[in-house]
Amino acid sequence: MADPVLIVENLHKSYGPIKAVDNVSFSVPQASCFGFLGPNGAGKSTLMRILYGTAERERRPETAVRVFGFDPAQNELDIKFLSGVVPQDNNLDEELNVERNLLVYSKFYGMKRREADGRIDELLSFFELSEKRKARIRELSGGMKRRLTIARALLHAPRLLILDEPTTGLDPQVRHLIWDKLRQLKKDGMTILLTTHYMDEAYQICDTILIMDKGRKAMEGPPQDLLDSHIERYVLEIVKPDAGREIASMPVPEGVRSDPSRDRLVFYSNEAHVLRRIAKNLGHGEYHLRESNLEDLFLKLTGRALNELQ
Ligand code: ADP
Ligand code: MG
Repeated sequence: MADPVLIVENLHKSYGPIKAVDNVSFSVPQASCFGFLGPNGAGKSTLMRILYGTAERERRPETAVRVFGFDPAQNELDIKFLSGVVPQDNNLDEELNVERNLLVYSKFYGMKRREADGRIDELLSFFELSEKRKARIRELSGGMKRRLTIARALLHAPRLLILDEPTTGLDPQVRHLIWDKLRQLKKDGMTILLTTHYMDEAYQICDTILIMDKGRKAMEGPPQDLLDSHIERYVLEIVKPDAGREIASMPVPEGVRSDPSRDRLVFYSNEAHVLRRIAKNLGHGEYHLRESNLEDLFLKLTGRALNELQ
């Protein structure tokens, strides 16, 4: 097997008393999508910034960081040429139009004008932005700006694409479009590293996720494997508060776990029929029986919700 594109061992970073990244290790194989899932403040952006060289890590003997074999603290430029970065905030130049935003970057990478023009055509078409080539940045929607920022990161045909919250705040249609494009890139051999606080994003496009909470790694693995081995398969949520109170006063059946910490009564079990029995006297709309997801897993691990604001 090819060497991993990225290797991180025992990474630490503090801001004063805050441990933004607390002893995190992982590695990312080629042509895979690796996702960091965690709420605001988990340390995702700090970790990304260390990888592409815009934040310094703590100097410790046990720490190792290698991107294509290079250390970002020493060979930032080598890594820049091999990777494309989409920061959390689109840092597009509002004064320039779409095309010029891309041309400025192509110059940074030393691309000839003809090569750049061809590549710009290709990328605008791939991201469905061809009609906006001459548009000003302020005329673009949030989803278009995001797609343009991703296109810009791909100009120099990098082998690694790093995206910090690629779809936060975008509508579902654009999110699906971006996911499709990321899947296509991966199929063509791109290695993708992303952060997200959307469990569906992590589930849909990542081969491996690393669940982060308060700077620490809580868990790592393929999303479905994590669900299969760490949380019951089904979840029953009691929507109606007074029905919830009545059910809560009854003993919890065997093979069922209840979670009283949530704002509504919630039961977990590997057997859907046991949960259905708990809800047997409830009417339509008074409960919700579904398969468990990464949000449930995160709650179980940390006692907090993924989208909770800090
Ligand atoms: P995430 O991207 O997961 O939301 P961040 O990496 O942005 O998390 O932040 C992790 C923690 O580090 C937070 O508590 C945040 O306030 C803190 N932090 C991040 N960047 C800085 C900085 N430049 N100076 C001080 N504190 C920071
Ligand atoms: Mg962030």
